[in-house]
Amino acid sequence: MRIAIFGSGYVGLVTGACLADGGHHVTCVDVDSERVARLRAGESPIWEPGLEELLRGNLAQGRLEFTDDPAEALEDARVAFVAVGTPQAPDGSADLSYVDDVARRIGELARRDLLVVNKSTVPVGTAARVRALIEEGLAARGAGHRVGVASNPEFLKEGAAIADFKHGDRIVVGTEAAEDEELLRLVYEPFNRQREKIIAMDIPSAELTKYAANAMLAAKISFMNEIAAISEAAGADIERVRQGIGSDPRIGYQFLYAGAGYGGSCFPKDVAALAHTARQAGCEPRILDAVEAVNAHQKGTLLRRLDELLPGLAGRTVAVWGLAFKPRTDDVREAPALHLVRGLLAAGCTVRAYDPVAAGTFAAALGEEAARVEFTDSALDAARGADALAICTEWEEFRAFDAEGLAERMAGRLIVDGRNLYDPARVAAAGFAYASVGRRTAG
Ligand code: NAD
Repeated sequence: MRIAIFGSGYVGLVTGACLADGGHHVTCVDVDSERVARLRAGESPIWEPGLEELLRGNLAQGRLEFTDDPAEALEDARVAFVAVGTPQAPDGSADLSYVDDVARRIGELARRDLLVVNKSTVPVGTAARVRALIEEGLAARGAGHRVGVASNPEFLKEGAAIADFKHGDRIVVGTEAAEDEELLRLVYEPFNRQREKIIAMDIPSAELTKYAANAMLAAKISFMNEIAAISEAAGADIERVRQGIGSDPRIGYQFLYAGAGYGGSCFPKDVAALAHTARQAGCEPRILDAVEAVNAHQKGTLLRRLDELLPGLAGRTVAVWGLAFKPRTDDVREAPALHLVRGLLAAGCTVRAYDPVAAGTFAAALGEEAARVEFTDSALDAARGADALAICTEWEEFRAFDAEGLAERMAGRLIVDGRNLYDPARVAAAGFAYASVGRRTAG
């Protein structure tokens, strides 16, 4: 099938590469011409395991193309996915301006029957809004094709995006006509062989499913962070509590970690947008408000700990390990490390930072302040001369505790761990003071 995809970011690019790999012919369109040029050369603008190989293979086979011209992408397309950003607007709602732009362009340019599929995370009612914009464009030029609209939210996780797309738990498809559902079944046929994964429903339910899923996961994290605060105050150990409750299959071990707060391009904006939708619909989002409030507080936990344990922060050197909002991605949007590093710089600290892949995106997000951060090529190099080490992201390479390497390089003996990577007794025995989340400070 010929498929167009609007937006070549984390979601659009992975969707395009995977659909092409499944045998479809995909044209990805993006407004960013520089990005399009890099993609045409087989270079991925984002760091995602396995993506560049997939990109190159399908470019070479001629099944995957990139353009900045929507007319070209729509020329033969039977299905057009919308995978553009839906960032947070100042009032907390989802900013739909990029989605609206795409809908207008489709209204102006569609030359044949088309199914437009919203893959971006968008509030309930957006499919209807997209349809209205497209129909306006069609009517203005007297075009009579049928343009259907469907909702197909994306559940991939950055860092495991390709496996999630190809072997995901479910494919949620919201349609209002049987023929649209049938078309989407054909699109997903290559990824729906082992067992039936398509969960078909009406469009508003599909739109809400994505927000409900992200809000539930964010709630699990904030819940654990609240239990961590109680653990710390009451003298319990959150890691023991986590294992104790996770063993109950009704609770499960996944997403049960206390930490430095959730970040990323999805949870913060999606929880805010769902709360906004709730208010608009006349519902009070009590749980969602609490999830956000706990997270806002939690993001300050590392800075508060450093301030408490390293009196007189000004002039101190702090090593920061992990800049991405989670491991196996270079995405730093809303990352706890951004919050920490900005706070350390404001307090007058010298910051030496290391991340296996996210230094570039982190520097870009910091802007001018990046000039005040020294980015290093290895974790141990960041620790050189540091009074304290702060751990923000649980990259695998940080997980083995290297007492000797740190002791040799650090000037001080303080580790503040936002991911509970180490056994407190072992770190204390090696002569370090060790503050983690939801456990008593050791050493
Ligand atoms: P992104 O910012 O990485 O990519 C968006 C891309 O869209 C950019 O390359 C931008 O240049 C392009 N774009 C903007 N306007 C355009 C237009 N009019 N025509 C063509 N291209 C245009 O965003 P993302 O992380 O891929 O997220 C996209 C959507 O998917 C969001 O709604 C997000 O909430 C949702 N989502 C993201 C993830 C994730 O892990 N990143 C997971 C599931 C769902």
